[in-house]
Amino acid sequence: MAKILDGKSARAVVLDRVRSRVAASGRALKLSVILVGDDPASASYVASKEKACAACGMQGEVIRLGASSTREQVLAVIERLNRDPAVHGILCQLPMPAQIPEAEILRAIDPAKDVDCLHPENLGRLVEGHPRVLPCTPGGIMALLAHHGLEAAGKHAVVLGRSNIVGKPMAMLLLHANATVTLCHSRTRDLPAFTRQAELLVVAIGRPGFVTANLVKEGAIVVDVGINRVADGGQAKGYRIAGDVAYDDVAPRCSWITPVPGGVGLMTVATLMENVLRLSGVP
Ligand code: NDP
Repeated sequence: MAKILDGKSARAVVLDRVRSRVAASGRALKLSVILVGDDPASASYVASKEKACAACGMQGEVIRLGASSTREQVLAVIERLNRDPAVHGILCQLPMPAQIPEAEILRAIDPAKDVDCLHPENLGRLVEGHPRVLPCTPGGIMALLAHHGLEAAGKHAVVLGRSNIVGKPMAMLLLHANATVTLCHSRTRDLPAFTRQAELLVVAIGRPGFVTANLVKEGAIVVDVGINRVADGGQAKGYRIAGDVAYDDVAPRCSWITPVPGGVGLMTVATLMENVLRLSGVP
C-alpha cells in the first residue's frame, strides 16, 4: 500500500520558514490578487491565498472586479499595482471571464511582481534554467517530493496534461531535476503505454478518477494535481472534491501517492508565499 505524500506537513515547513523570514525582515510584504467575476471555485482559491498571507504575516489584498469588467479595467488595475512600491506580488486568478484576453493580461504584469511565473519573460527564464520564481503548482510538487526524501533524478517521469500553468512548467522542472520526461495530452496515442512506464506520474487533466490502477506502473510515485467538483448529495455543499486519480484503486499499486484534498493544492499556496518573499528581496 502506498505511503502518503502529505501536503499538510510539507506546507507547514514552508509557511514557518516564510513567516520567520518576514518577521525577521521587519518589512511589510504585500500580495495583490485580482479576482474578476464570481466563480465559486476561484473565490475559494483566493480565500485560501488570503489565509496563507495572514499566516505568514503578509498583507493579502483582494481586488474584486465584476464579471462584466472590461479588458481596459483589468489592465488599469494591473498598471496601478505595477507602479505601487508597496506591492511585491501580483496574481490574476484564472480563469478570467471570456471577454478578458488572459495572455495579454498576464503579459501586462511587471515580471518582477509575477508571483505565478506566467509572464513570458519568466517562462523563458524557467526554460533557461534560471527562474526568478518557481511556478506555484509544479514548484510545490517538487517541494513535496523533496520533503518526503524523493528524488526525480534518473527517473522516467510522465506528466499527463500540457497546460501553461501545470503540465508544461512541471515537465520543465522535472527535466531540470534530471528526470527523463514524457509529456502526454489528449492527442497522445496509446496513453497507457506511456503512463505504465512512469516511475513518477504527475496527473493534471481535470478528469475525476481518470487514472486507474491499470494505467500505473507497480511501485510508481503518483502525484494527483486534479481538483474537480463532483456532485454528491451526501455532502452539505452538494459536491465533493475529487482528484484525477482513482485513489482507492491506485494506492495499493504504487509506492507513494498524494491525497486530494491534502496534497498538491496545499503546496501550490505554500510556493506562492515563498514567491512573494523572493520577489520582495527579503533574504
Ligand atoms: P487544463 O484544462 O488547462 O489542461 C488539461 C490538460 O489535460 C490539457 O493539456 C489536455 O490535453 C489534457 N487532457 C484532458 N483530457 C485528457 C485525456 N483524456 N487524456 C490525456 N490528456 C488529457 O487544466 P489545468 O492544467 O489548469 O488543470 C488540470 C487539473 O488540475 C484540474 O483539475 C485543475 O482544477 C487542477 N489544478 C490544481 C491545482 C492545484 O493546486 N492542485 C492548480 C491548477 C490546476 P490537450 O492539451 O490536448 O487539450
